[in-house]
Amino acid sequence: MNGHFAAVGNGPSAQQYEHGIQVIDEDKSFNTHLNEYMIETRVAEAGFNYHLISVFGSQSTGKSTLLNALFGTEFSVMSESERRQTTKGIWMSKNKKEGANSGGSKMAENILVMDVEGTDGRERGEDQDFERKSALFALATSEVLIVNIWEHQVGLYQGANMGLLKTVFEVNLQIFLKDRQSQTRSLLFFVIRDHIGTTPLSNLRNTLVQDLTKIWSSISKPQGLENSKIDDYFDFAFAALPHKILQPDKFIAEVERLGTRFTTGHRSTKDQEFVGGVFLPEYHRRIPADGLSIYAEGVWDQIVNNKDLDLPTQQELLAQFRCDEILREVLVPFDTIIGPLEEQQAEATRSGKTSVLPDLGTTGAATREKCVKAFETQASRYHKGVYTVKRTELETKIDARLKALYQGQLSAAHKAGVTAFSEAVTHSVKAGQKAGGSYEFAEIVEKQKRKTLDIFKKEAQSLSIPGVAWSNFKPQYRLFETELNEVSARLRKEEMRRLAIRVERWVKSRLGDAIGLEFNKLGSGRGGTGAPEMGEKPPTEKDLWDRVWNAFIGIVKDAETRFGDRAKSFDATPDEVQIGLWRLRRKSWVALRERIDEEVMESNILMKLRENFEDKFRYDEEGVPRIWRPTDDIEGIYTRARESTLGLIPLLSRFRLMETYAPPDLPGFVGVQPTGAEPEDEEDLAPIGGVDEEEGKSLEEEMTVLSESKRQDLVVRFKKMADGVYVEAKRSAIGGITQ
Ligand code: GDP
Ligand code: MG
Repeated sequence: MNGHFAAVGNGPSAQQYEHGIQVIDEDKSFNTHLNEYMIETRVAEAGFNYHLISVFGSQSTGKSTLLNALFGTEFSVMSESERRQTTKGIWMSKNKKEGANSGGSKMAENILVMDVEGTDGRERGEDQDFERKSALFALATSEVLIVNIWEHQVGLYQGANMGLLKTVFEVNLQIFLKDRQSQTRSLLFFVIRDHIGTTPLSNLRNTLVQDLTKIWSSISKPQGLENSKIDDYFDFAFAALPHKILQPDKFIAEVERLGTRFTTGHRSTKDQEFVGGVFLPEYHRRIPADGLSIYAEGVWDQIVNNKDLDLPTQQELLAQFRCDEILREVLVPFDTIIGPLEEQQAEATRSGKTSVLPDLGTTGAATREKCVKAFETQASRYHKGVYTVKRTELETKIDARLKALYQGQLSAAHKAGVTAFSEAVTHSVKAGQKAGGSYEFAEIVEKQKRKTLDIFKKEAQSLSIPGVAWSNFKPQYRLFETELNEVSARLRKEEMRRLAIRVERWVKSRLGDAIGLEFNKLGSGRGGTGAPEMGEKPPTEKDLWDRVWNAFIGIVKDAETRFGDRAKSFDATPDEVQIGLWRLRRKSWVALRERIDEEVMESNILMKLRENFEDKFRYDEEGVPRIWRPTDDIEGIYTRARESTLGLIPLLSRFRLMETYAPPDLPGFVGVQPTGAEPEDEEDLAPIGGVDEEEGKSLEEEMTVLSESKRQDLVVRFKKMADGVYVEAKRSAIGGITQ
């Protein structure tokens, strides 16, 4: 950015603008307070709706007087008696007759008039330099150039005015050399002063046009513009005014008439003739009013430093400067609204909370729209290319912030949604359990999922801005949906766990009864309690394990049905069901093993053996208790009964089926581990010999109920106990005789 654009001085605070403002002073410095004046006169806010006029002419030809009369300005004029130059540099003033009804038609709005210091034809040198510079400046900015000229100067080709016009033409070509695409033209408005009236205006006009053509052909044209014609760049208008002092009334009347021409006009499409006033759209330099001071400053800087005046570059620089300024301005209200929301979100993140901001979508979209619109309204008046780039920059800036904010919002909504979902499901399950356990898990999950997804969808939709690609949050919605499904699966797994625990408990209780029953049968020497029913094959001790195994299988099958049905009711996948059943079979086996261990605990099994032995020893074949007599073969009966019971111990020691004399097919029953049974699942699963082969325990070991040492111990203890019974029987037989 050129430094000269940045210069915004702090001038005298109470500047008086009644005489307008001196844009360029006698030292050729630019007045940095010009924009202040533009704001004060409210032209700054007018966009393109303003007009700029400059006046040219020799010194003391009544230029300032004319402008004051025409536009109500208060440029200082030379007093009648002193006769010395008054206007220094370039002054500007806003038309003070705006809205004044002069001759039925109003003047255009926001006319700015520049009074340019005149040159004295007699003095040259330094003056000529300023003349050239001020002409360049005026041409670069003004739509209409008033050329003030005495009637008696018309036709005097050598006159000072002609020199001035030559300068104007030359600098104009210089500008156009750099700015060929520009369609901008200017109006040279000749105001002929002290018109006596003997020569009609039309004659004067012809003379002037001839002179202008001559001047045009005499100037050296830059390469590429050799064949250009004067009316490629200029339109001409003419007016004549009577002598101000000699014919004051007529002067005033004519000035008033002249004023009516300062309205907007256009070129007739039929014959290209002017219709309406002097301000044709094609004269306008298209510098927005709020950028005029910066533009003028840049232009003047180029001129004063004798650089080639490059208006397109100046316009681009202006656009960059102003667009940046406007961008900063429109970001202020954006910041005011969005800033605190960003802060709130960041604060929530810092403190680990999830904060879903209410109405964020509405607020965000409205703020974005307002911001972009405000930028568009002001900045679109500037250089299109620059504006487009800066607009994109603005959108990128605010969209980056909104995007971050929206993504934060959705991740908060995501977290909140997941929590709400699993809480709602857990709560409903608990309520169902309290109300007797009849609840449909799958239904609960489905309902809560729909509800939670709906809330998220509404939030995502409310954040979407039509036509803005980044605000499409469908992927986030899908992500959320996926996570809900994962949470559902986890909750389902927990529900499966609860179900498994319930079923395992049921298995244990059933096993407790059934296995107890089978072992109790050991207590009877005939392998059963009481007399067998008719037609029923009397159970024998030898098929104990067959009965245990069959009871076990029956119970587990029942349990599997219960588990499977229930699991299916809450949409468990076939895989999940398979895993559950596999675990159930394993755990059931472990429960059976524990139950058997309980049965064969020394005190328990010793009692069963004693009952078995006593049943054989004390009762005869008909089940009638024996009354021992000394003649009885107590010893023989004792030995048979003892040996028979002792024979049970090896049977009890190993879980073997009668027919095959081999362990049951436990591995086949449990089945292979289904894929997907996660490692964590096995934590509570003790290894089973023969099933989990790598655990180093064989099926044979798994099926060992009593170890060798326990077995021997049991034999010894049982024998002792049996001996006791025998001695007692012996005693009672002898005792029976003595009685
Ligand atoms: P500027 O230097 O061109 O701005 O001229 P001024 O407006 O300061 O006027 C210079 C002198 O010309 C003043 O003394 C005015 O009174 C006088 N003057 C102004 N208008 C006219 C006019 O229409 N005819 C004549 N002859 N003198 C005028
Ligand atoms: Mg003057």
